Amino acid sequence: MSEILKTRRPEGSSLELSEAALGELASQVSQLVTDYFSDVSSLPVFPETSAGNTLAHIGTSLPSESVPLEELLNDCRAIIENSRHNGHPCFFGYVASPSTPPGAFADLIASALNSNVTSWRSGPAATEIERTVVRWLGSLIGYDDNTAGLLTSGGSMANMTAMLIAHRTKSDPGVAAKGLWDSGRPMTIYASDQIHMSIPKAADILGLGRAQVRLVKSDDSLRMNVAHLRECISRDLANGLKPFCVIASAGTVNTGAVDPLDEIAAVAKEFALWFHIDGAYGALATLDETKRPLFKGLERADSISLDPHKWLYVPIDSGCLLFRDEARARAAFSFDEADYIKVHEQNADEAFAFWNYGPELSRRFRALKIWLTLRYYGARRIAQAISEDNALAAYLGERVEQAEDFEILACPQLSICCFRYLPPSLQSNGAASIEATDESSETELNELNSKIMHAVQRGGRAYLSSATIRGKFALRACITNFRTTRADIDETLEIIRDAAQQVGTQGGT
Ligand SMILES: *Cc1c(COP(=O)(O)O)cnc(C)c1O
Repeated sequence: MSEILKTRRPEGSSLELSEAALGELASQVSQLVTDYFSDVSSLPVFPETSAGNTLAHIGTSLPSESVPLEELLNDCRAIIENSRHNGHPCFFGYVASPSTPPGAFADLIASALNSNVTSWRSGPAATEIERTVVRWLGSLIGYDDNTAGLLTSGGSMANMTAMLIAHRTKSDPGVAAKGLWDSGRPMTIYASDQIHMSIPKAADILGLGRAQVRLVKSDDSLRMNVAHLRECISRDLANGLKPFCVIASAGTVNTGAVDPLDEIAAVAKEFALWFHIDGAYGALATLDETKRPLFKGLERADSISLDPHKWLYVPIDSGCLLFRDEARARAAFSFDEADYIKVHEQNADEAFAFWNYGPELSRRFRALKIWLTLRYYGARRIAQAISEDNALAAYLGERVEQAEDFEILACPQLSICCFRYLPPSLQSNGAASIEATDESSETELNELNSKIMHAVQRGGRAYLSSATIRGKFALRACITNFRTTRADIDETLEIIRDAAQQVGTQGGT
C-alpha cells in the first residue's frame, strides 16, 4: 500500500465530514434551534396530533443509505411540530421547566466533546467542573459550602443512590456481600403519604421491598405528621424491625408541601436514622428568600436530592445527589476488584472517580449545562426567576379564591397550585363557603374536572396536570416557567372556563 493511501481510510469507512458539510450542518441546526427558541411561545402547547402521527409523517424505514440534510431538517421540524412544548408560557403540567438557550447549547458542546465523566483520568476538566457544580449547588441551597455528591440522570436515581448509601451505612457489616436477607431484621424506611413514587420504587430495586417504606400520615397542609412518624418508628422497633432511614420531602410533587425538616431531623437523630431529603422539585426554592424559612433544618440532612432540570431551567437530564460524608458513599459503591477501574494516581484529586459514589460508570458531561447556565445568568437572576414562579403561583391561588366558580384545594406553598372548577350547580345550597359535600356531587366534580383537564390539554392553549387531594380530583398548575406572566395565568383561567363550557356541563348537570 502506498504511503498516501495509508493516511486515509478506505472510501466510505470514515464518518468525517468535509469542512463545507460540517459548516452547513452547524449553521442549519443552529438556525433550527434559534427559530425554536423564538417561536416556542406561539406554538400550540400540545400539538394537534394522535398516536402514530409523527411516524406517519416521517416514515419508519431503517435507512441503509444517506438521507439528504434538507430532508433530515424537515423531519426534525415535523418532530418539533408533534411535540409538547414545556417552554410555552402557559405550560404548567408536571414539574417540567423550559430549558434556557445557554443550557441547550452547553449540551451541544458536551456532546461534541463527548467526555466520559467516569473519573478525573477519563475527563479531567469535566470532573473538576462537576465537583465544582456540586459544591455550588450545596452552597446555593444552604446545605454545606463543601458539599460532595454527584450528578445523576434525575431525582429518581439520586434518591435510589441515597437509599443505598443509607442502607449500607446503617446495616450490619457484610450485608452487601451476603445479600439483604442476611441483615437479620427487616429494615424500614419512613416517608409521608405524599412521597414521590421513586422512593418505593427504589426500595423495590434495592431489594428492601416497597412495603418497607412506611407511609406516615400527612397533616392538613400535606406535610409529614411528625407525631405519627414517631409512632410508626416505635411500633416497628417494638416488633423487632430495624428502622434505618427517614425521607422528608422538600416540596412534594403533588402540592409543593415542605415537610417540617427541623423536627424530622430531630427524630432522625434520636433514633439514629439516616436523614434524606427529596428536594427534586423544591430544594432550589431556597433561592427565594421569602421561602427560605420553610427549609429550616435542611442543613441537617445526611443527603439531599435536587433536580437542576426542574428548577434551574437546565435541560434534561440533570439531577443531583448531595451528601456531606464522602466516605459513606464510597463505602457503599466502591468496588476495587476490577482491573479496568484501577486508578494508579497518587494525587487524591487525580484518583477521584465518580463510579465510587454511584451506580453509573459511563456518564455524560452533565455539569457543563449547569455551570454555563449559572455563569451566563448569575445565581441572582436565577433566584429572581424562581421567586417570580412562586409569586405567580400565589397570584393564581388568589385569583382562584376570588372567583365564584373555582375552589382552591391546596394553597401554594411553593409554585404549585391545586384547585378545581366548581360550577354554581354543584355548589352546596346556601353554604357560606363554597364546598360541595355530598358524595354524588363529589363524584360529579371529579369527573367534570378530569374532563376539563383533558379538554385543556388537547386544546393546545394551556397545559395543566392533575393531583388527587384527599380524594378530590384537582387541576394542578406547577409554575417552573420563566416565560409565564400574570396575563398567562389570567388567560389560563379563561381557557379552563372555556373547556368547562365545551365539556357541556357548565350551569347544569
Ligand atoms: C420529579 C421528582 C422526582 C423524580 O425526579 P426525576 O428527575 O423525574 O427522576 C422525585 N421526587 C420529587 C419530589 C419530584 O418532584
